Amino acid sequence: MEEQTYKQTNGLKEECAIVGIYNYEGAQNLAYYSLFAMQHRGQEASGISVSNGTNLKLHKAQGLVTKVFSKKDLDQLEGFSAIGHNRYSTAGGDSINDSQPIYARYGLGEVSIAHNGNLVNAKEIRDELIADGAIFQSHLDTEVIIHLLARNKKQTLTSRLMECMHSVQGAYALVILSRSKMFALRDRFGLRPLSLGVIKKPDGGQAYCVASETCAFDLIGATYLRDVEPGELIIFEKNKLDSKFTSIKLFSSNIKPCVFEYIYFSRPDSLVFNKSVYSVRKNLGKILAKEFSHLKADMVVPVPDSGLPASIGFSQSSNIPFELGLIRNHYVGRTFIEPTQHLRELKVKLKLNPIKEIIQDKILIVIDDSLVRGTTSKAIVSLLKQAGAKQVHLLISCPPTISPCYYGVDTPNKDELICSVKSLEEVREYIGADTLGFLSLEGLKNAIDSKEYSYCQACFDGVYLHQIN
Ligand code: AMP
Ligand code: SF4
Repeated sequence: MEEQTYKQTNGLKEECAIVGIYNYEGAQNLAYYSLFAMQHRGQEASGISVSNGTNLKLHKAQGLVTKVFSKKDLDQLEGFSAIGHNRYSTAGGDSINDSQPIYARYGLGEVSIAHNGNLVNAKEIRDELIADGAIFQSHLDTEVIIHLLARNKKQTLTSRLMECMHSVQGAYALVILSRSKMFALRDRFGLRPLSLGVIKKPDGGQAYCVASETCAFDLIGATYLRDVEPGELIIFEKNKLDSKFTSIKLFSSNIKPCVFEYIYFSRPDSLVFNKSVYSVRKNLGKILAKEFSHLKADMVVPVPDSGLPASIGFSQSSNIPFELGLIRNHYVGRTFIEPTQHLRELKVKLKLNPIKEIIQDKILIVIDDSLVRGTTSKAIVSLLKQAGAKQVHLLISCPPTISPCYYGVDTPNKDELICSVKSLEEVREYIGADTLGFLSLEGLKNAIDSKEYSYCQACFDGVYLHQIN
């Protein structure tokens, strides 16, 4: 994904995919397919750690899942439980140490951890640990958790986890593997997703799995049971599971899953936070159509793939025909030399090409999921106009991104967020669109239509959880 360049200016952050499989002979194969299904959440590196009951093994490398694991690698990882990770980050050091899972030997044996999220107090804890003699091998928050677990004096990994998770703040969904057990946990605000599923084994028995998105369950034939609850620690042992809460359970109104999972990050065929991502995205488009009902156009054109479901919703609600005016080349890997700033348009051209015959002399409503720096939108508007579009009205199916995310979704610094430094009219002018419009915050809330939670929307309203607690 070319958009990953955010990382290059923004340091390390993790917004990844994690998976855990428990009580299944050949667990590594199911972990592999799950990571394959969740490749969109991270293409930088991939890893699987397994337990065969006696010891843990780990294989990780840079690249896509299919490149990282050969059949031989998977055969050598034979185990009855497995955890896996896809890493998104592209920042500076491309060190393999910054990929996951992280493995360690410690007082109680061996442990592997895979983490999705970002701890807001990782630096503080890391500095304290270093002052106390700890040595770190990576830049990952996850390593902080390993150190806390290793230094804790409780007798079991479960009790160490229960205690250590009090020290860390921020966003995390974690899967942890020991020789006999697997653990899955989410931070108390439920910022990052983690779903629990069950797998029917060929012998009639039952295995369990957890994954960032349920599209992984669909591929491995698992049935979605429920989400790992915010603040919950699920312990998988033998063929049962046990549940504990690492902190006082929050009222559901204080639980803040990340709204951006619905807008951009998750696959539309997933359930995330127990809601269909596709349905939410379509609703975003329907409400956008209501909020911009004054706009008249010949067709609604999605920016593929991220703007597709919202465009369908928009078209159905407005009765403006839907057309694929832009075609995406799906084979744009990360092997291209990054074009310099003035060649941004080329970068977009590598990925998207307008169908001239469709859009020529037409008034277009173009829908994308989000606008961050504005570079993609600027290039798209220019491409469409060069291809003969009469007018381009660009609508974004979320509110303006005005604040960075500290909870694991990669966004640039505030001064690079175009909507934070320019007025709406200035942004429109920069992008070159005839109209520029965003979904309202109210519209976003209505599209999700949650009776249960109020979602984190800090990147849109600047209200962070650590400020309100
Ligand atoms: P920009 O050119 O910076 O405005 O980028 C906007 C485009 O980046 C949109 O088309 C989004 O689909 C995509 N995008 C939004 N957020 C992210 C993110 N966190 N990581 C990668 N791509 C993103
Ligand atoms: Fe998600 Fe935005 Fe909150 Fe980050 S700040 S967790 S991207 S909603």
